[in-house]
Amino acid sequence: MAEEKEKKKIFIVEDNELNLKLFNDVLTANGFETAYTQDGFEAYSLIKKEMPDAILMDIQLHGISGFDVIKEIKADKEVANIPIIVVTAFAMKDDKQKILESGCEAYISKPISINPFLSTVSQYANSDLLEAS
Ligand code: MN
Repeated sequence: MAEEKEKKKIFIVEDNELNLKLFNDVLTANGFETAYTQDGFEAYSLIKKEMPDAILMDIQLHGISGFDVIKEIKADKEVANIPIIVVTAFAMKDDKQKILESGCEAYISKPISINPFLSTVSQYANSDLLEAS
């Protein structure tokens, strides 16, 4: 018997205040629950606590690279299967290659377009439903 559908939780790692507010506002206005941090150093432990359905990951963070945060997450069996969507302004070919090889599940460029952003987040936040069907 299916339970009442719970809101999907998205964890946002983004050090830029305006981007964080934009992502958070768009997601909460569209029925998602959110949690977030601007501090890449605490992202991994907060994600373990929050156990979100998907993670939005900035790469250029203060004092730490988002790639290192992804490594921490993907090395931990308890959280390794949570889809990570990298959201970054990197546009160079080498950077794109690095993103694809980082272990993340998807990649969105900044500045975001709202509809593709929402459909990508929905797709990955609901990937447990896809696997079950
Ligand atoms: Mn940043």
